[in-house]
Amino acid sequence: MSDERPDDLEGLIQQGLEQCDRDARLSAERDLDETTRQLVEANRELERMKAKLQNQIETLERERDRVLTISRLDQLTRLVNRSTLLGHLNEALICPLPDGQHHWLFLIDIRRFKHLNNALGQTGGDLVLKSVAQRLMDVALSNNGIAARTGGNEFAVSLALSARDAANFGDFLRSTLEAPMVIQARQVRIEVNIGGAGTNVSAPDVETIRGAADQALLECRKHKSGSHVCMFDSRLRDEIVEKADLEIRLNQAVNTNQIEPWFQPIINPNDTKRVSFEVLARWSRPTGMVPPDYFIPLATQMGIRRRLDGDLFLRATEHAVPWAKQGWLKDISFNVPPSDLILPTFMDDLDRLLAKTQLPREHIVMEITESVFIDDMDVARERLEQIGDRGIRVALDDFGTGYSNLRSMVGLPLSKIKLDRSLIADLGSQDRMATLVSTITQWARSVGIEVVAEGVETEAQMMVLKALGCTGLQGFYFGEALTAADVEKRFGQGENVVLMSPRKRA
Ligand code: C2E
Ligand code: CA
Ligand code: CA
Repeated sequence: MSDERPDDLEGLIQQGLEQCDRDARLSAERDLDETTRQLVEANRELERMKAKLQNQIETLERERDRVLTISRLDQLTRLVNRSTLLGHLNEALICPLPDGQHHWLFLIDIRRFKHLNNALGQTGGDLVLKSVAQRLMDVALSNNGIAARTGGNEFAVSLALSARDAANFGDFLRSTLEAPMVIQARQVRIEVNIGGAGTNVSAPDVETIRGAADQALLECRKHKSGSHVCMFDSRLRDEIVEKADLEIRLNQAVNTNQIEPWFQPIINPNDTKRVSFEVLARWSRPTGMVPPDYFIPLATQMGIRRRLDGDLFLRATEHAVPWAKQGWLKDISFNVPPSDLILPTFMDDLDRLLAKTQLPREHIVMEITESVFIDDMDVARERLEQIGDRGIRVALDDFGTGYSNLRSMVGLPLSKIKLDRSLIADLGSQDRMATLVSTITQWARSVGIEVVAEGVETEAQMMVLKALGCTGLQGFYFGEALTAADVEKRFGQGENVVLMSPRKRA
């Protein structure tokens, strides 16, 4: 028994140990199961999060693509926009082309689109743009090119062509775009300008080719109406070099006061004691006079025209101070470009000039053209009132060349209307013109506005205009613009300075 016990004990211990082992194994297995379960669960959660993240990434990618497409595409026409086109062109320019082929850029604008928009309304205008875009897209696609909308009424096509084909392509574009389109059940025809430039003449970089196409487009814009195609060629390239040279000289001329204020007399047939003048800029070079119609727009492009106008204002008013004191100056008038008038800084600039001049304000007139009222009637009206508040009068220049009518002029604070010389030139040949001028003068007189006729060249015109009631006559019949010294010689003689006798062109 004593032998068995230990055996029993051992057996018991052995059993106990085995039981412990089993328990431990079971517990470890239980723990393992729990850990595995937790791991499996964590894994599932991770999968769920991954799927969610994947979803979010896809949404973000779709949004990014949508934004990129929007930034590349013009929303109205679905053509690519300017920067995308130029990006494509930039890449294309590095690619070699077969012999005889060049890269081309054609810039296209719809003429008088603003008026078309006014006539058809915004929706109609949009339909015109869409129709133009569709035509350009078709033409571009069938020529392996790209069409883009580069601005409000501006489009472009870029493609590879031979020089000979490029000229034909320009003409083809024109006839395609000119073909009538039906907009809101109306037949509409548009006129376009197309400027083309290729790497045959221009350097193969985007900026140069774009500048060249721009130049060609500018050539087209010189025509007042109709559709035009101009290609950048060596003649235009030479002109640009010449223009660059002239720009340098013009800059010097402005800086050194070589451009002078001259004075063209405006005669009142009923007042022989006093005379008005229009101040006209004159730039005389050793090669001859440069016409203001040329250098004024150039100075505007160069950003120096406002400084020039300011200098001319001060110098002209300085000349005029003694004329006013002597009593024979009625007023002198200055040309104010419409784009200046609507500038927010216009009144501050004017105030600065007025503070510097000694000429009393009743002798100062600002001439503005009626186009300003088409573009920005509200700002223009406000400016006119502000100018009037300063005791300065306003003349409406080139009346009869624009689109405004007498009704839209009623109520504007105007002191003078200057009838454009095209109306005066037709006076003798067209009875309708005489009726029109007579209607304008009668209306103007009834509201206290003076009427000045421009471009009076003959005695017959002078007599008719006088009889029709014009209170200002300006033109070569009385004389071209004079230097300040010549004004003094001719008008500063004292009594009865203003004779109705003609001073013919030299
Ligand atoms: P505008 O304001 O219509 O000026 C009248 C233009 O008609 C002047 O041309 C003048 O010389 C011309 N003219 C006057 N009488 C007759 C005539 O009997 N027959 C013909 N055929 N022409 C006549 P100009 O001096 O060449 O000036 C052209 C334009 O340049 C002006 O047109 C004006 O818009 C602008 N301009 C001239 N001087 C200045 C200036 O100092 N500043 C600004 N901003 N513009 C100016
Ligand atoms: Ca004028
Ligand atoms: Ca004028």
